[in-house]
Amino acid sequence: MSAAPEAGRSAVLPVGGPGAAGAPWSSGVRRRADGEVEVAGVPVSELAAAHGTPAYVLDEADFRARARAYRTAFESAFAEVGAGVDVYYAGKALLTVAVARWATQEGLRVDTASGGELAVALRAGVPGAAIGLHGNNKSDAEILAALDAGVGRLIVDSLVEIERVADLAASRGVVAPVMVRVTTGVHAGGHEYISTAHEDQKFGLSVNAGPDGGTSPALAALEAVVARPELDLLGIHSHIGSQILEPSGFEAAARVVLQLRADLATRTGALVEEVDLGGGYGIAYLPGEEPLEPAPVAVSVAQAVAAVSRELGTPLPRFSIEPGRAVVGPAGLTLYTVGTVKPVTVSAPAEDPGAGATFTRLYVSVDGGMSDNIRPALYGADYHAEVVGRASAAGTVLARVVGKHCESGDVVVHEVMLPADVRAGDLLAVPATGAYGRSMASNYNGLTRPPVVAVADGASRVLVRRETLEDLLGLDLG
Ligand SMILES: *Cc1c(COP(=O)(O)O)cnc(C)c1O
Repeated sequence: MSAAPEAGRSAVLPVGGPGAAGAPWSSGVRRRADGEVEVAGVPVSELAAAHGTPAYVLDEADFRARARAYRTAFESAFAEVGAGVDVYYAGKALLTVAVARWATQEGLRVDTASGGELAVALRAGVPGAAIGLHGNNKSDAEILAALDAGVGRLIVDSLVEIERVADLAASRGVVAPVMVRVTTGVHAGGHEYISTAHEDQKFGLSVNAGPDGGTSPALAALEAVVARPELDLLGIHSHIGSQILEPSGFEAAARVVLQLRADLATRTGALVEEVDLGGGYGIAYLPGEEPLEPAPVAVSVAQAVAAVSRELGTPLPRFSIEPGRAVVGPAGLTLYTVGTVKPVTVSAPAEDPGAGATFTRLYVSVDGGMSDNIRPALYGADYHAEVVGRASAAGTVLARVVGKHCESGDVVVHEVMLPADVRAGDLLAVPATGAYGRSMASNYNGLTRPPVVAVADGASRVLVRRETLEDLLGLDLG
C-alpha cells in the first residue's frame, strides 16, 4: 500500500481510495489515472467481463507476501530467544487447492477443521505431516481420514475424543500424534483481552480446577493422553480469539500454557515439546485502521515466552501459530455490480444529538449480499466500499450498500461515503473480504456462490468456478 493516488486525480477520489496509504486494499490494487481500479495489473472491467460479478478476487502476490511475512517474522523473533516455530495457515479462512499450494510454497503448514478441509489440503498435495486437524466434534470418519493421511497432529478437544482417537489409532495399528486444546481463560478480539476463570463455550479443556479444587480438566486430559500408548502427546494448544489487534492476550495465554506444561512435567515427568498459540491476528477492514503487524507481535510474544520459561526453569518448547484472516483477508476483495439505487429519508434516532432531524441515506443494491459475505449480518462487521470502474467528479453522499436477499438485515456495508452519481452498472468493490467470505458463503435465496478468481502479474485465473443453477438443481432429487 504505497503509491499515493495519481497526482491531480485525488480531488475526485474518495478518501482512502485504492492505493492510498492506510487503505485496506491488497498491495496490487491501484487506481489508474482514468479512475478505473486494477488488481495486479488487471482492470476491474476486464475481471467483470471475464468472470462476471459478484466475484471474489484474490491478489496472489499479496497472499504470498503476507504468508512469508508471518513465517519470517516469527522464525526470526523465536530464533532470537532460541526457539523454533511453525506457521500453520488456518484453512477455514479460505481453502482452495491453489490457496493451500501457495501457503505450502511459502513455507507454511495447513490447519484444517473438518474432513472437507482435510480433503482439499490433500488434493493440493500438502504432505500429511504438514497438516493439522481441529474440531470439537470430529466424526470417526474424519479421525480415520486424518490417521490414514498421516496428519502431523490431531488437536483433541475432550476426554471422550481422546479415547475415541486412541481406539481408532489402535484399530489402524498406528500411533496418533495429538495436541490437547486447552482454554486459558484469556479471551481477545479487538484491542483488549479479558481473563475469566471459567469458560462457558464449547472449545477446549479448562486449565482451571473445578469447584472441588481437584485436577483441572486440561491436566486430566493431558494425563489421559500420556496413559494411552496409541497416542503420542506432542503438546498443548490454545486459541484465544479473532481479529486481535494487540499482543498482550497472546502473551497472557502463553504464560498460562507454559505453566500448565511445567505442572504436567512435575506430575508425570513428561515435558511436552510443542505449544501452539493459535491464530486471531487482526487486520484493517476500514481506511485508517491499524492492523496487527507480524514483526512486533512476534517479538513481544517471543520475549514473553522466553521470560516465562526462565521463571519456570523449563526449556522452551517448539511453538506454532495459526493465522488465517491475517494471511488471506487483505489479499481478497469482492467485486459487485450496482443495481437499484434508492434514496431513503431517515429521521435521526431520539438518542442522537440531531434527534428528529431528517437526512437521506442512499441505498445502493449490489448483485450479491449476505450469501457471499455473512459477516456484517452475523457479527455486525464493518467494511469499506468504493466505486472502482470509473472516476467520479460528483461529491460524496452517505450510502449503505445492501444485497439482493429477502432480508432487511442483508447489509454489505453499513455506512460509507460513495459518489453521489453512483448508478446501475457501476462496478463496486469491497476490500478485505478474502477471509470468511467464500468459506462462509451460502445459497440463501437460491443464489449461486461466486467464483474465486486469482490475479497475478497482469493475468487472472479461476480457482473455484461460479456455481450454476445446474449445480443447485443437481442436488435436489425431487
Ligand atoms: C479460527 C481459528 C484460527 C484462525 O483464526 P484467524 O482469526 O483467521 O487467524 C486458528 N486456529 C484455530 C483453532 C481457530 O479456530
